[in-house]
Amino acid sequence: MNEFTRRTALGALSALPLLSVPVAAGAVGNGPSWNGNGNITTAHLSTYDDVAAFLQKEAQKQPAMELSVIGQSVKGRDLYLASWLSAPENPTVLFLTQQHGNEQLTTEGALEVVKHLGTGRLREVLDGVNILIVPMLNPDGAMGDVDFSLEGYLAHGDRHLTRYNAVEADLNRDHVDRLQPETQALHENVLGAFEIDYMIDLHHQGANRALGDELVSGSILHPTTPNAAPELVERSKRLGSVVYDAVDSTGWGLIGKYNGGSAETISRNGLAVEYDIATLLFEMRGMSDHTREDYVLGARSSGYLIRQTVLTLEATVRAIADGSIESADISFWDTLPTQETYTPDE
Ligand SMILES: [Zn+2]
Repeated sequence: MNEFTRRTALGALSALPLLSVPVAAGAVGNGPSWNGNGNITTAHLSTYDDVAAFLQKEAQKQPAMELSVIGQSVKGRDLYLASWLSAPENPTVLFLTQQHGNEQLTTEGALEVVKHLGTGRLREVLDGVNILIVPMLNPDGAMGDVDFSLEGYLAHGDRHLTRYNAVEADLNRDHVDRLQPETQALHENVLGAFEIDYMIDLHHQGANRALGDELVSGSILHPTTPNAAPELVERSKRLGSVVYDAVDSTGWGLIGKYNGGSAETISRNGLAVEYDIATLLFEMRGMSDHTREDYVLGARSSGYLIRQTVLTLEATVRAIADGSIESADISFWDTLPTQETYTPDE
């Protein structure tokens, strides 16, 4: 086919709906639809009011669920703790989402798990584990209701979402000083109020982290402060093992090791040492909003990332409830590759 006929053929074929899709995707290039992952939009995300209404509705439906307000954000939004406390002697796990307001899909996944805990799908785990869920710890950042400019943020829709709280503080650097009302509420009314054995802190990272040239669906890390006792690190590694096995076995999940530091201002390190909690950081792929195009991920990827959250939480509560977490194999940590930032050849 010479140049002329190829053009003619393309011109004719592009009128067909099926073939117009790749043509359109190619035209987008490396714009906000980075890597062809769809529009960066807030349309598919729950608002804070949606989250609050959902939790209240579930608390009314579920006899085993308690919903409490642990404090207020800078802008006065109630911060919620959902809890299922079946028996004091059972181990207790805490799931924390959206310390960073622009990392929302983990909250969407956590809400699905809240629903499942009220149905036959998951209810039986409550005999063996106590569950605490703090969803959307940073509602002001999630709603873009902040005292600084969000100009240049990429998401389309009714709002912008930002990492920081209303006064531009990073809540996951505030676990030692606790200057912010959101971190104070978490420490006073959750961490200091319950005997917690395990915690997963759920985040989203840049959309272009990879192992080799395969983009990861997320990355994980245990405490790495030198002050964490070896036994505590081992317990944390077992928690990571449960999550790794659940996600890696899906075929669509690809987990790397997160390259994280030793600061105790972050929850993975600080909460482990202060409260003797086995902790795991889970950084899922892509943020809901940001100024950087390589950090955000469009609505098209939401489904599998929400599913990854659900899978993570449900595998964890099952493994704690049936005790299988105690014998989880931690040797994979020795060979788990550290993720890197993917840079295309061109
Ligand atoms: Zn984060």
